[in-house]
Amino acid sequence: MEKILFVAHTDASGALPRNALETLTAAKDLAAGLGAELAVGLVGADVAAAADSIAACGASAFLGVSGPDFADSRYSSDAAALEALGKNSGATIIVGPATSRFARVLPGVAQRLGGAVDTQLAGLTATNGTVSAVRWFYRQRMEGTLSRTARPWVLTIAPGSFAPFEGAGSATLENVGVDLDAACKRTTVVGIEAPAADAQTIRPDAELLFVAGAGWTKKQADGQVHLDVAEKCILGFLDATKASLGSSKSLVDISGEGQKVLPFMSHLHQVGQTGATPRHPKGLATCCHGEEPHVVGWRFIGERRAVNLDAGCGWAQGKADVLYVADAFAVVAKVNELLAE
Ligand SMILES: Cc1cc2nc3c(=O)[nH]c(=O)nc-3n(C[C@H](O)[C@H](O)[C@H](O)COP(=O)(O)OP(=O)(O)OC[C@H]3O[C@@H](n4cnc5c(N)ncnc54)[C@H](O)[C@@H]3O)c2cc1C
Repeated sequence: MEKILFVAHTDASGALPRNALETLTAAKDLAAGLGAELAVGLVGADVAAAADSIAACGASAFLGVSGPDFADSRYSSDAAALEALGKNSGATIIVGPATSRFARVLPGVAQRLGGAVDTQLAGLTATNGTVSAVRWFYRQRMEGTLSRTARPWVLTIAPGSFAPFEGAGSATLENVGVDLDAACKRTTVVGIEAPAADAQTIRPDAELLFVAGAGWTKKQADGQVHLDVAEKCILGFLDATKASLGSSKSLVDISGEGQKVLPFMSHLHQVGQTGATPRHPKGLATCCHGEEPHVVGWRFIGERRAVNLDAGCGWAQGKADVLYVADAFAVVAKVNELLAE
């Protein structure tokens, strides 16, 4: 009989990150599909509030490894905590979120427990007692379904694959003691350097993906380049809508070619075959031609629209739901004006 353990860590505020709540839905559904017992294992400085926030998930036990030593992401202490939770629970399947903190430690935990690991899953089902895990391969072009007999089987769930669990209450938390030796505490986190929330333009949870293409940096009808106007239009739109910013390869490559660039663009923004494959309900491409190597990165974008001067651009070849044949400088300036009203 399988036993499922959902594992998660708290964030700086003591809450569970969104990806953890999504992963709990996956673990809960899996336990229900198998008729198996579900347990929860939490790691953090203080996990009581996090346990209460998911108290109604139907778990038979809420286990916690907590204290100052477990506040921050550190491989040695996180691995020790998760190993202890795995052993204490007697779980055969351990499901955790593919957050940066757990993605790096859960494969090592599988090794310590003598089990197997599969990462970044986008689906998890149980049919007639057999667990099937779904993940993408070859830069999200092929979907594979796999199952294993090795136990414990450690699984990490990719963000955006399940609806986040909701169901607070009052959980009875059982403390699992973990003694860390000096070697486990050699690394200390002295602080976190992160850009201000508004400077961070890659926003995976945004409703809308706004893609800027190389056209923003090209000579316009008056024979001039208008980078300052482009910057104002793009940042104004992002500020008003809190959309996530994407780019074509041509635009982010321009900096390497010595041409004038938009300073807030980096290769991390690139969407496409050699770029990212973001997931957003809607997408708007501007000054981007819609070539196939770019558009393959749009496979998980729901409703697609594009603004391009060229009625024969790639978006018109069945790649967008709506193509506005128009000057993106004028369209985005007008949209920003309307958003400001
Ligand atoms: C192996 C391989 C992998 C690749 N991987 C990727 C990838 O991961 N991502 C990616 O993006 N590309 C990738 N490419 C490159 C891709 O084929 C295109 O070259 C690139 O996407 C073009 O970028 P663009 O549309 O921004 O630029 P351009 O092709 O230069 O298009 C600019 C567009 O802006 C429009 N425009 C100009 N001014 C305005 C205006 N005022 N209003 C409206 N429209 C305007 C023009 O009409 C034009 O359509 C790859 C290519 C190869 C061969």
